[in-house]
Amino acid sequence: MRTRSAIFYAAQQPISVEDVELQGPQSGEVLVRVAATGACHSDYHAIDGHIEAATVPLVMGHEASGVVEEVGQGVSAFAPGDNVVFAIRPMCGKCKYCSTNRWNLCNGNKAPRGFMPDGTTRFKTLDGDTLHHGLATFSQHTVVPEWNLVKVADDAPIEKFASIGCAVVTGVGAVVNTAQVKQGSTVAVWGCGGVGLNVIQGAVIAGAAKIIAIDVAESKFPFARNFGATDTVDASKHDPVEAVMELTDGGADYTFEVIGKPPTIRQAFDATCAGGTACMVGVPPSGGEVSVPLGPLFLDRRLIGSSAGTGSPRVDFPWFIELYRQGRLKLDELQSRYRPLDEINEAFEDMLSGEVARTIVRP
Ligand SMILES: [Zn+2]
Ligand SMILES: [Zn+2]
Repeated sequence: MRTRSAIFYAAQQPISVEDVELQGPQSGEVLVRVAATGACHSDYHAIDGHIEAATVPLVMGHEASGVVEEVGQGVSAFAPGDNVVFAIRPMCGKCKYCSTNRWNLCNGNKAPRGFMPDGTTRFKTLDGDTLHHGLATFSQHTVVPEWNLVKVADDAPIEKFASIGCAVVTGVGAVVNTAQVKQGSTVAVWGCGGVGLNVIQGAVIAGAAKIIAIDVAESKFPFARNFGATDTVDASKHDPVEAVMELTDGGADYTFEVIGKPPTIRQAFDATCAGGTACMVGVPPSGGEVSVPLGPLFLDRRLIGSSAGTGSPRVDFPWFIELYRQGRLKLDELQSRYRPLDEINEAFEDMLSGEVARTIVRP
């Protein structure tokens, strides 16, 4: 079928939006009409060269919700018309990690990045050239393995759930699943973008007493306060470690680094109290390293990583939707701006400007 997709050709170049040819779903695959898809920093990381780009040309996008249009052979869990949210990791159900309820670490997909599990791709240019892809949600339609989808209630406003599979599960999950923040504790968050805001609202859900939002862009602080931050620190004007030390009387119980840069990861570690936990949430640069002093580490501190919020999507996504229905999870406030697919580059400019919580593309 003919569809329209956003294609990444090379770092530091605008994304190209083009009509493309999409092959129907093969065995175990599902064709989804994308309802809404978030402009997420982890796509941008390939554009700005922070991480090595996957195989190019690549149909981008991974944070999305949509409606099933067609299912391939052997697919029984989904049917046309089902509302679905995309999960960024596979859930093969068979590997060591899935078998021990660590779905976010699933290694059941043996194909290299940019290919379907069978080693081929479903997208081609109109000239017949291969287009690589992961979930390829920056597209009117996409085909994905059924293990990347979670069915959600049919009465749901499906557009609202676009960010659940990335920003929400990564942020809220880091707090409740990975670090397991205890009620009454103090929390500090480096970076108040889409994921950082979800760390903040995760800390509210966990019952944190103090939530300190740190960023270099003052424009982020109204969002941070709206999502539950009790204090803000402008790191372009103040040393964030000193500020957290002062606000928490000697260090936070939990710190979260949602930027993915070694210097801020080190700051997050330095700002914990003895017995505290520093949790790395931001995607680190390819080959990046950080060093921490052993004396403080010895005092029961932990430096941990959180990948995709240590989430169990089939349990966590319906939980998030229930929290949203009860008014305890902010999803509407996360969608600051809507744009058509043709404005994908502007959507990333919105993200870099710090003017939005998330720009949502409706292809
Ligand atoms: Zn993402
Ligand atoms: Zn698995």
